[in-house]
Order: sequence, then structure tokens, then C-alpha cells
Amino acid sequence: MKKLIITAAPTGEGPNKEINPATPMTPAEIAEDVYECYQAGAAVAHIHVRDENGGPSMNTDTFEETVYRIREKCDIVLNLTTGGDNFAGDEIRMAHLHRLRPEMGSFDAGTINWAYRELFPNPPQFLEKLGTTMQELGVKPEVEVFDAGMIDNARYYIKTGVLQMPVHFQIVLGAPGGMPATIENLIFLQRMIPEGCTWSAFGVGKASLPIMTASILLGGHIRVGFEDNTYYAKGVKAESNRQLVERAVRIAKELGREIATSDEAREMLQLKNHYRNK
Ligand code: ZN
Repeated sequence: MKKLIITAAPTGEGPNKEINPATPMTPAEIAEDVYECYQAGAAVAHIHVRDENGGPSMNTDTFEETVYRIREKCDIVLNLTTGGDNFAGDEIRMAHLHRLRPEMGSFDAGTINWAYRELFPNPPQFLEKLGTTMQELGVKPEVEVFDAGMIDNARYYIKTGVLQMPVHFQIVLGAPGGMPATIENLIFLQRMIPEGCTWSAFGVGKASLPIMTASILLGGHIRVGFEDNTYYAKGVKAESNRQLVERAVRIAKELGREIATSDEAREMLQLKNHYRNK
């Protein structure tokens, strides 16, 4: 089986130090955390940033500082969120892509009711603009799907040229309002992914471990980190994001999957904005 790409998602927009004291919040904390994950075996970092109160943010300057601090430490592939604040306008959701030209960015392939309380808006006009902008900037979309219909949206965008093959999918299971995190659902969604594409998957909360293990066995890639899960086991908070990456590496090796380096991930995902070439 091909090597396993581990994405670390260290902070997201939800967790904080009350939920888990090891949650990285500031650019310096996020950079140090990402570096630890990189050393433990993560090839990609999926980055969110926070405002001064710890809330969700799409502030371009904060992204820039975070990226700069990570780049002082390592060459991990950077995947910057475009969905870090459900109330941000279209332009601010893409401003950091223009300024920083990361190797990857998230592309959420449809709108959902976020955690039952607000809209996570990804209307067609925005997705068309986002896909086109990413192509112009050489940013590889990570197509996040929360439900089966989002794979249909992605197929439509492949047909219309908004997304370019080979597409990289991130299957999100167990998000409130999204597809429940069962292995049956993982297999169902994974079979819908167009041939020639790459895919990764993760489960939210307690589904993190079973979905990760199933993805490794099915030949997919994985994502771990506090954005999705802040626990190590039932009732036991994770000590750090690094601890979750280290466990993923151990399980993968036991199951016969070697771990991809950042450069190997660049090749497997056919990334264009290679950091090493800058
Ligand atoms: Zn995210």
C-alpha cells in the first residue's frame, strides 16, 4: 500500500484551553505545536488562526505570522483553512491565499448547518470563485465533504473545470449536522470518490480512532488533532497534538503502512507551490 499522509489539525476554531489546556491558540503556540507534530510524523498541517479572544478568525496578518513562524522551524506542507469563520465574507476567506500562496487550502464542497446553530455557507458562487482562484494561485484544494451530496458537487466542479484532477478529498464524519461517523458510511463515501483521486478521512470526537484505523486499512490518508478530537481515550484528555500523531504513527506501522514525509506528500498530492523551491 502507498505511504500514509498524516495531516495534523492542531486547533481548528472550537477548542480552547478550558476544553484542553494543551490547545495552541496564538501564532507562536500553533507554530511550536505544528513543529512537534512534524517531528512526530505529520506531513501536512491544516491551519486555523484565532482572534485575540480565542475566537475564530480569518485575519490575513495572523495567518501570515503563523506561517512565518512555522517556516522558521520546518518545511511541513501547509493547508490553510478557507472556512475558519462562518461569518467572514468571500474575499477575506481567500485573502490569505493571495498573500501567502500556501501549497494547499480547504475547499468545503457545500453548505451545512454548523453544529445545529449557524450556517457554514459555501454557496455555488463562492465555490466557483474559490476553485478558480486556487487554480490561478497554484493552491491545491483539499475538498472537504461532510455528506454524500458534497461528492456530487465535487464531481460537477471537476466536469466544469472549477476543480482539476486529481482531486484530494477529506471525508469528515461525525460533525454535528454531517454524515454520522460509522465505518459503513466511510466505505460508502470512499467508493463514491472519482477514480484517480486521493482521499483522507477523519472522525470527530470518539469516532477519531475507529475512522482513522479504518482509513489506514482502506488505503486512505488520515487527519488527527484537537480540531477534531481533544481526547486520547474516554475521559482522558490528550496531552498534546503530538501525542495523537505519535499514536497514529504507531497504529499505521503495526498495520503495515509506512509514513510519508512532507516531500513525499508533495509528490503524491501533486502540489505545485513547492515550499522547497521558493
Ligand atoms: Zn479546519
